[in-house]
Amino acid sequence: MLVRRRIHVAGIVQGVGFRPYVYRLATERHLAGQIINTSSGVVIEVEGAAEVVDDFLASLPAQAPPQALVTDIRVVEIHRTGKSDFCILASDPSASVRTLISPDMATCAGCLRELFDPADRRYRYPFINCTNCGPRFSIVRGIPYDRPQTSMSVFPMCPRCLAEYEDPRNRRFHAQPNACWQCGPQLEFCDSRGQRLPVDDPIAEAVARLRAGEIVAVKGLGGFHLAADATNSRAVGRLRERKRRIEKPFAVMVSDLESVSRFCTLGSEDGELLCLPQRPIVLLPRMKPCPLADSIAPFNLYLGIFLPYTPVHHLLFKDSELQALVMTSGNLSEEPIAIGNSEAVARLGDIADWFLLHNREILLRCDDSVLRRVGGRPRQLRRSRGFVPVPVFLKREFPPTLAVGGELKNTICLLRGREAFLSQHIGDLENVEAYKFFQEAVDHFQRILEIRPRIVAYDLHPDYFATRWAQKQPGMQAVGVQHHHAHIASCMAENDLAGRVIGFALDGTGYGTDGCIWGGEVLLADYLDFERAAHLAYVPLPGGAAAIREPWRMAVSHLWASFGPALLELPIPLFRQIPRTKVLTVLQMMERQVNSPLTSSCGRLFDAVAALINLRLEVNYEAQAAIELEMCRDEAAAGEPYPFGLSQAGNLLQIDSRPLFRAIVEDLLRGAAAGEISRRFHDGLVRALAAIARILRKRTSLNTVCLSGGTFQNACLASGLEHQLESEGFEVYTHSQVPAGDGGISLGQAVVAAHRATTGAGVLAPPGSENK
Ligand SMILES: [Zn+2]
Ligand SMILES: [Zn+2]
Ligand SMILES: [Zn+2]
Repeated sequence: MLVRRRIHVAGIVQGVGFRPYVYRLATERHLAGQIINTSSGVVIEVEGAAEVVDDFLASLPAQAPPQALVTDIRVVEIHRTGKSDFCILASDPSASVRTLISPDMATCAGCLRELFDPADRRYRYPFINCTNCGPRFSIVRGIPYDRPQTSMSVFPMCPRCLAEYEDPRNRRFHAQPNACWQCGPQLEFCDSRGQRLPVDDPIAEAVARLRAGEIVAVKGLGGFHLAADATNSRAVGRLRERKRRIEKPFAVMVSDLESVSRFCTLGSEDGELLCLPQRPIVLLPRMKPCPLADSIAPFNLYLGIFLPYTPVHHLLFKDSELQALVMTSGNLSEEPIAIGNSEAVARLGDIADWFLLHNREILLRCDDSVLRRVGGRPRQLRRSRGFVPVPVFLKREFPPTLAVGGELKNTICLLRGREAFLSQHIGDLENVEAYKFFQEAVDHFQRILEIRPRIVAYDLHPDYFATRWAQKQPGMQAVGVQHHHAHIASCMAENDLAGRVIGFALDGTGYGTDGCIWGGEVLLADYLDFERAAHLAYVPLPGGAAAIREPWRMAVSHLWASFGPALLELPIPLFRQIPRTKVLTVLQMMERQVNSPLTSSCGRLFDAVAALINLRLEVNYEAQAAIELEMCRDEAAAGEPYPFGLSQAGNLLQIDSRPLFRAIVEDLLRGAAAGEISRRFHDGLVRALAAIARILRKRTSLNTVCLSGGTFQNACLASGLEHQLESEGFEVYTHSQVPAGDGGISLGQAVVAAHRATTGAGVLAPPGSENK
């Protein structure tokens, strides 16, 4: 029997070689019909024998190109036309756009072969790409995703490129960034003021400068990198100094997988992560000894490693004898990554000795993504290049909603139907540059996704940039979402959970509904609301932000809670490091309650322990003390987990850290090693949290637990608690698609706000009003 069927395919099906794929699939089977790109994906019509059409349909999702993501297929019977050819029709530039834009993708194996094939017309061409690879998200101006809507629009294709572009059998058919030496973007080599140098081969020049220990700013896919030879301590030291980045680890790009094993312990699963088409930075245990400069990641047992992902990267390593390059974001300190040529020269001219530039415009900056394997599973530490803008798929439909995220590691999230689009890493909204980037990202995402949100979700902290921005937006229903509720809702959303859960939200800082600084929270939560069921007992944060920069203050705060004024008599190593006058000042602040807000922060608990054992008294980057405390843990050390106390007021449980600090002081006085204290602390915290879970299960009959918050980026705590809870029969959910840290809260904010708005449930009072 002959049939004709119309097939709607939704997902990432444009710009990824989907039409040539379908063309091949149909013509191989001698099926007639057509395919067209529409605003909602692709629409295919096929005509032929019913069983052949069935076979076509079965193969369609199964053999799709590697970068395609098919999310929905709908099939209807239509009238036969009797035509016998299969054709690809021009795109339909119609109204509402529901298709998905592909992320930027690493150079594929096919392009790599051509890149180094002297007989190929693109031999050593630094911008070689095809439908399986190359820039996408970072060069898109609008949709539908076609060349005029990208920053490639200024490069008219030469006849040979155009022929490939128009040939449905070619793997460059409708590859929007398609280009070659004749028609495409070009590299140039410039000095630190942006003056072009008359060199024949900009790559060879950059390699020579890098090998001489100089710093080269390299324009990449989503922004600039600052590159230096990672085996050259002086070069790395100079980069640190000029970038004003003290101790915070640098990422290292290594020439190939085989070379990685010279620097890091590499499991087979880690190799797979490094080779993902997104080419993320992966945290790997550093070899001892390691031929790379120590100053790349001081006091850290891990290195952030990634593999080359653009033709320029591959060319830099080929034949250069460079094994590894520090490739750190092209910015000063915590500012956003630079993307424009003149912008980069202005901002990076004092850091870089040279610039390797090109003339393809980057339209939206996008930092590298960072993954770490915890408990055998990859976790997102920073979800950015390669992953954005692939949405998180949700179970139910939502009205168009914008969530503006938090203050640190900011991302935004747009909801549309069943899709949640998280932005790339925007960063800490503490400087003007980052705030501008935030506004750019909001505008750009709304434009390329054609979403006009009616609801805007924000964090309750009244002083956050994003919160104040959200409250100024006209014509939108503004919904405040508590920080830790957003963490738990984010974990629920990516795991498709419904109903109520026991949520552990552990992090550094989040504004509480009582005006205190929360951060060690156990919530009974659903998408609408939460009950605070337990928290770490409050202690003062003496000096506010100063206590975050100087963990020794938190040690004094916890000692004060545990020992009172007698803490001054303790013969502990900390007091040999910190002058007595400083300690007394902090004590006075707390006694008089001056600039000492109360906090239940778990991050600050880690800080206090790290400072007390003299590991880290002041930090140079966020979570440094907690990271070093995790690093020093001695798995083989003996000793019971440290004790925590538990008290109850009504239904609210409080986790008392005083027994912990008394035990640590006792151990310090008997000369216990830091590695032992670290291990017993981690284990003690796991035991205390598991005890809370059991109490709450008994009280509520809930058995589902969600773990979220930046503290769960600590592998010992995350896998320790997961393992413990699972062994006690809990169903434990964590993050895998979005970060557990504040980069993931915009998702939670969005789903909570959308639930509240659609069910007409109470909207929380505006921030700040809780205290009035
Ligand atoms: Zn390719
Ligand atoms: Zn060309
Ligand atoms: Zn948080």
